[in-house]
Amino acid sequence: MKFATINGNKIEATKGAVGMCTHCGAELIAKCGTVKIHHWAHKGIRNCDPWWENETEWHRFWKSHYTAAWQEFSMLDPATNEKHIADVYTDRGLVIEFQHSSIHPSERMAREKFYKNMVWVIDGTRLKNDYPRFLQARNSFRRTHHPAIFHVDIMAECFPSAWIGSDVPVVFDFKGTVTIDDPRDPRHHLYCLLPKKDSRYALLTILTRRYFIDKTISGEWSSIFSSDFERPVPNQDAQQGQGRQNSNVRKESPFVLYKGRFIRRKRL
Ligand SMILES: [Zn+2]
Repeated sequence: MKFATINGNKIEATKGAVGMCTHCGAELIAKCGTVKIHHWAHKGIRNCDPWWENETEWHRFWKSHYTAAWQEFSMLDPATNEKHIADVYTDRGLVIEFQHSSIHPSERMAREKFYKNMVWVIDGTRLKNDYPRFLQARNSFRRTHHPAIFHVDIMAECFPSAWIGSDVPVVFDFKGTVTIDDPRDPRHHLYCLLPKKDSRYALLTILTRRYFIDKTISGEWSSIFSSDFERPVPNQDAQQGQGRQNSNVRKESPFVLYKGRFIRRKRL
């Protein structure tokens, strides 16, 4: 974990320090080696939350955009006494989970059921095939009436199967913590699968990192998706001069390239 409680404050690990787990109250030992990122570890047990995953630089990068008070927030379901640690829990009641490791769909669903108002952010750099697969599938995204929302017909050819059919927004980050100099590189954007509403297709929207962070902090994020996710979201191209992002997406035509041949588009 990034934080332990010391004298009532959330403190990051420093060599030799001892703290208390904010979640279970057990003693935590600071681990400040050279291989893993500095973190706190429980003395005896592996971790007090079975959903917790060892953190990477990528987790820390994302969490650092949010105030410490929102990070590693211990949450209790009073009906069942089930407790889990949310990566980020905002003051507007939104949980943000940053997921690096693979996750079984049953655990994904259990977490969505527990946190309810949540969004996933997925490390799309962990598996080397995820980004090439996405890039290839991107050619068959279809425009909708809204410039920032696209239809994805064949989800399995675009995203890892564990994330298909989620009830909450799933944001893919294919850039991670690397530096990419080319400003036109698609990895500068985030790709958000909208909550599943129809089994025939999925809807996807393209976001800047800044937009995602700003909207999740301000509380506006939840209202974008809570009622009707096909309702227009603010046009980020106009706001942020990112007009290039849509130029890579095929314009509406009666045909679309699919598996090396042109097939007729389905009607919207
Ligand atoms: Zn604990």
